[in-house]
This record gives sequence, C-alpha cells and structure tokens, in this order.
Amino acid sequence: MASSEDLRSILRRIDGRGYKAYLDIKGTYDFPGFRLYVDRVQGDPFASPSEVRVVVPQDLARFPADLYRDRARRLGLEDFLLRSLADALRREARGHRGTGKSGLLAVMPHGQEILWRSAVSVDARRVEARLVAGLPAAGRTVLGREAEAMLLGELPRAVMAALYWERVDREQARRWACLAEDQEYIRSQLPGRGLVAFVANGAILPRESGVSDRPLRQGRVIPFQSPPSLEVEFVLPNGGPVRGMGIPRGVTLIVGGGYHGKSTLLRALERGVYNHIPGDGRELVVTVPTAVKIRAEDGRRVEKVDISPFISYLPFGQDTRCFSTESASGSTSQAANIVEALEAGADVLLLDEDTSATNFMIRDARMQMLVAREKEPIIPFLDRVRSLWERMGVSSVLVMGGSGDYFDVADTVIMMDAYRPHDVTARAREIASAMPTRRRPEEPAPMERPAPRIPLGDSLDPTRGGRVKIAARGTEHIRFGREDIVLDCVEQIVDEGQVRFAGDALYWMARHCLDGRRTLREALDLLVAGLEEGGLDAVAPPGPPPGDYAWARPLEVAAALNRLRTLRVRPPR
Ligand code: ADP
Ligand code: MG
Repeated sequence: MASSEDLRSILRRIDGRGYKAYLDIKGTYDFPGFRLYVDRVQGDPFASPSEVRVVVPQDLARFPADLYRDRARRLGLEDFLLRSLADALRREARGHRGTGKSGLLAVMPHGQEILWRSAVSVDARRVEARLVAGLPAAGRTVLGREAEAMLLGELPRAVMAALYWERVDREQARRWACLAEDQEYIRSQLPGRGLVAFVANGAILPRESGVSDRPLRQGRVIPFQSPPSLEVEFVLPNGGPVRGMGIPRGVTLIVGGGYHGKSTLLRALERGVYNHIPGDGRELVVTVPTAVKIRAEDGRRVEKVDISPFISYLPFGQDTRCFSTESASGSTSQAANIVEALEAGADVLLLDEDTSATNFMIRDARMQMLVAREKEPIIPFLDRVRSLWERMGVSSVLVMGGSGDYFDVADTVIMMDAYRPHDVTARAREIASAMPTRRRPEEPAPMERPAPRIPLGDSLDPTRGGRVKIAARGTEHIRFGREDIVLDCVEQIVDEGQVRFAGDALYWMARHCLDGRRTLREALDLLVAGLEEGGLDAVAPPGPPPGDYAWARPLEVAAALNRLRTLRVRPPR
C-alpha cells in the first residue's frame, strides 16, 4: 500500500508537467489516521473536479455505537459530520490556487434537511467521506506544490478536525442524531394516532425569503401555537413530551384572509416529509412520508394517464381514460398529477389554491346553472375529495381561502388569523347548514383507484452521442440523454443531490425492472429494495462511487419518470 509520502513524491515528480500527469495519483494512500482514495482524476482544470474518498477506521474515529446503530440516528450523525467537514474545509482550504477549479476542496452542498446522502457514511467499521478536489494547475501545467499543500496539508487537517469523535463538537453531534430520531419517531407514530401531520408548538414556519430556506428572523415572527381542540402530545425518545397541532386524516381545509400564513403552513407540511436540522424552526413539523404536493403544471407532458375521475371527456372525443398530451392544460395537468401520485403510492394530497387551477377546484351553483353539465368536462376536486377519503383512504389538506363550498366536504377547518391557527370546524358547519350552496354534486360514480400502468424501459434513453449522459441542473432539471426533465413543479424535491439520485435511479430502473411486464409501482418497490440492500450507491453507474447523491422518495422518482418526454407506457388495461 502506498503511503502519503509516496503521494508527496509523485506530486513533486509531476510538478510542472502537463495536466495529464495527474493521472499518476489515481490510487490509494495510507495517511496517519485514515486512508485516501483518489478515485477519479479530472481531465483538465476546468472539468468537473476530481473525486476522492477518505476512510477513517472506526477504532480510530471512535464514534459511540449508539449514535449509528439506529438508522434515524445514524442519518442524523452522518448529516452532522457532513456539515462539520464542510465547515472544516472552509476553514482549512485556501480555495483558489490557479486555473479553473484549481484548489477547490469540498463536499456536496446541503440545505436545511437531514437527508440520507452518499457524501458521509458511518458504520461499525469506518467513517467514510466523499469529496471533490480541483487539482491545481497554471493553464495546463501541474502545480505539484499547490497540490501537495492541498492534499497533504489542508485535507488531513480538515479530516482530523471533523471525522474523529474526540475532535468534533460531541454535544452537537449527539443533538443532531437524537433530533433525527425524534422526528422519525413522530413520523412513525402519526398513522396510529389517526394523523397525517404534526406541527409542534413553538415551531417557526416562515422562511427568510422566497429564495432562502432559512428561518425568518427579521421583524415579528409568530411561533406556531396549536388551537386547544387540535392539540396532541408525543413523548419523544430523546426530547420528552412535546405538544402541538395534530392534523387528522380525512379532509382538512386551511382558510383565512390573504397574507395570514396559510401557504406558509402548507409549505411546512410539504417539507415535513423530511427531517430538519436543529435551529431550522421546522424540526418538529412532521408529515407522513406518503404526502404529496399537488399543483397545476400546464405545459407538462402526460403519457396515458386515466384522468377520467376528474375530466370526463375532451374535444374531438379524446380518451380521458388513457390521456396523453405533449402539453397539458392547468386542469388536466392537475388531474394527471393526482392520478400519478396515487399510482406511485401517495395517500395524502396537499393542495394550495395559489398553485391550483380554479376550474379544477370549484364550480359554484351559478356557474352550474349557466354552463350545462354536458358542456363542462371537469368534475371539480370538490366533488371527489370525499370519495378519495371514504373509498380510498386518501386524505387531503387544502388551502382554500376563496370558496366556502368546501365547508360541506371538510372534516376539519383550520383558520389562520395573523399567523395563528384556530379550529373553526364547528362554525364552518353551522354556516354550511344555514347557507346551503345550492350546487348539484357532480360525481357520476365514486372514485376508484387508477389502473396501474406499465412503463416501457426502452423508452428511457440516457445516451447522447453514444454515451450515457445523466446530470442534474439545480433542483429543477435532469439532463437525461437528449432529454431535459423539468422538475420545477415537483415541489418536494429540495436538494440538487436528490435530482442526481433520481436521474440515475431512472436509468437503474430502466435496466433492472422496467421489463414491459412490471407496473410502475412494482418497479418502485424494487428500487426501494435495491436501496435497502446496496445503499444509495445501488443506482450508481459503474465508476467511482458518487459523493453527491441525496435520497429522494419513490414518489419523486416517479414524478421524474412521468415528466420524461420520451416515456412510453403500456396503457391501463
Ligand atoms: P397566505 O397564503 O395566507 O396568503 P402566506 O403564507 O403566503 O399567506 O404568508 C404571507 C407572509 O407572511 C409571508 O411573507 C410569510 O413569510 C409571512 N409569515 C407567515 N407565517 C408567519 C409567522 N408565523 N410569523 C411571521 N410572518 C409569517
Ligand atoms: Mg397563499
């Protein structure tokens, strides 16, 4: 086994040579206290940076087993270590050292969520961290001394500071792990308590700005406080008793005046499918893992989806039981989004009037009178939301400040008033019976589960110019071969790492399970099983193990597949 001193001699030897000479450092080196793997060497200083891994044996790292044996705790610990390594690199690495990415030394970017990531992993044997390094050059000339300072100076100092129990902030590390466990505990308890979500008293829901996911601090921030009638208590394994608002299963309306915090509450519920870091404000805002945000998304493609529960017919006799389009309208896209979410396993739908098609959500008595039933193909969500719940067990949480027609179908009505929630269910019922809407229910027959579709693997082609090309662009695009999968309306994708993961997961599914016989749901189940067995790396193409994956739910992977414009499926029977 080569040692760090061997790496030093190579770097001195190739100093001043052409950039390709860096290929000589590919390999494995024993450092005092850890092992360094140089897995991939970049082709030039502007190319994507080189990939390296650091492995610290657990008998040196010495993390207490109670912090990584339980899965939720382990993910919390790994998230903490990722952040402390990122901090240490920011402190230790000088950064820019020449042309292009020269001098870069970093781990994958990360936001407010604690996600399962490939960047740091901990088990009984070792702690592993995956990084990128921009190998320094002036033009295309190797700067060996600079590389030496980076790889033999800065990197070991950061690793020493961040990946050993003796050196990390042990109290914080424990806090991270325990908080992750507490969040997962609440999530596991919700179904048994008949709830779809929990919002702890004291939670800070508003965010700093439209472009920042950090908690709002400026000005007056109203911490969340449950109305007494909806208050529930959980006894957390680490945090002890905590009280807050439980949102029951069934149909829940969030009403209230404009700018009173309705959408902010719904957005927190959307994000509650993920765990959050200490200090985020939404640490104890927890939603069941099968909750999906539904919105209108005009312009999206739809491939053979049965939208007939919501759209009964279309011009020119287009078949709504097997509806395809290159460009859906507001209402047809929202219908397709619901049916696809149900197909992929959703059982809680989150909708906001701000991002819904009005004609998809409501049609009042006057409009019914003016436009005959035969002239209006849309069966509004209002007429479906009960049978979704009663026949299929699918709950809905809707922000609806604009139509009282929903009072008739709601089990729970929460009114936001100056950022404070009130339980107005009884009052809404009184109003509903005192003032009938006089609308005719339009549901022809109760809603049924959508028939499963069978995606055809060969309609997924990730190649371009004969080579597999899958890449993420921010949180909103996957480059998949020649295709651009647009995810800007898939609002529960929160991290670029999830996009990378989803892109590779699609290709993995195309190769391993979309065989023309399996349904989408069966393929997603195989994906989940594959991840259980092989970790996130299971979906990685051959090559160096990726350091930039973050886990995405099968629901989001399905959403990406459904937005691939070349997708072909065998229609529902
Ligand atoms: P609505 O959907 O009811 O119209 P929003 O949820 O969009 O209102 O909130 C309006 C504004 O109020 C946003 O700028 C949001 O950040 C802010 N806000 C929301 N909740 C709170 C709160 N608890 N404390 C302070 N400001 C808040
Ligand atoms: Mg709003």
